[in-house]
Amino acid sequence: MCELCNLERNSMWYYEDDDFIICNCTFCKIPMIVSKDHDYDISGVITEAYIKGMVKNVFHIGGAVTEAYIKGIVKGVFHGKNFSFRKEQGKVKNHFHWHIILE
Ligand SMILES: [Zn+2]
Ligand SMILES: [Zn+2]
Repeated sequence: MCELCNLERNSMWYYEDDDFIICNCTFCKIPMIVSKDHDYDISGVITEAYIKGMVKNVFHIGGAVTEAYIKGIVKGVFHGKNFSFRKEQGKVKNHFHWHIILE
């Protein structure tokens, strides 16, 4: 079973909507943004085009989600703080999650 599909509220949750959750990664102890869907293959680097495609296919919201969109969610949650993403899919390779590096 994929642990990102089975995220439990055993760490701090900052945000949740229909598509994404932002919570503390229990391994890295930093926040991460995780999609709620599992149905795609992430084998390489995630590009904005990739996210657009993924979103079109999985989230059915017409390609409105881009990296900028994800950034916007994170910005809203950690208002005023500067951050960057660590985009490597660490332990779980095939389930979209980006770690959020707060500066
Ligand atoms: Zn999963
Ligand atoms: Zn982590």
